Amino acid sequence: MSENAIKYNAIIIGTGQSGKPLAISLASAGWNTAIIEDKYVGGTCVNYGCTPTKTMVASARITYLAKRASDYGVNIQSVSIDLKKVRERKDAIVKSFRQGGKNGLEKTENVNLIFGKAKFRNEKEIDVLDPQFDNFSYNDYLNTYL
Ligand SMILES: Cc1cc2nc3c(=O)[nH]c(=O)nc-3n(C[C@H](O)[C@H](O)[C@H](O)COP(=O)(O)OP(=O)(O)OC[C@H]3O[C@@H](n4cnc5c(N)ncnc54)[C@H](O)[C@@H]3O)c2cc1C
Repeated sequence: MSENAIKYNAIIIGTGQSGKPLAISLASAGWNTAIIEDKYVGGTCVNYGCTPTKTMVASARITYLAKRASDYGVNIQSVSIDLKKVRERKDAIVKSFRQGGKNGLEKTENVNLIFGKAKFRNEKEIDVLDPQFDNFSYNDYLNTYL
């Protein structure tokens, strides 16, 4: 084991819908926990999946309702979609959820949020590729008791 090895009770790869709550639960139970993220905190759901699709579906629903306004005795002159604004709204919500998730992990006691690509060295040891380097290198050397 490397001299620089940092030992954790648990190492979680990915800050998605599974990783983030697991890290917080384990940390709350007193486990010293590392969580490693290669890209964006929140994973698929927050950054590419549930959140962006549902914000855009919300804009589509508003358009649908506005187009049906006259059925309800409400007169709306014309309805048009500003796709740039729809996308900007989606991007702002995604960014705020992502930042909220990052803040939540950073302020949780016993959790160490590490950015980089996790790679198994062996069944209990993980290297983290620092995204600042082009070549494979690692600045943290992690180990778990699990
Ligand atoms: C378009 C779309 C819409 C969706 N809508 C819904 C919905 O409305 N409701 C719903 O319940 N589900 C929805 N889903 C499914 C939902 O997004 C997934 O079920 C959920 O994100 C899975 O979470 P996860 O934590 O398992 O994985 P992910 O969210 O994919 O998280 C994995 C994380 O691990 C990181 N990672 C991977 N490998 C490494 C590595 N080697 N080192 C470091 N980090 C790494 C990734 O960067 C990522 O952040 C949708 C999915 C898509 C694609």
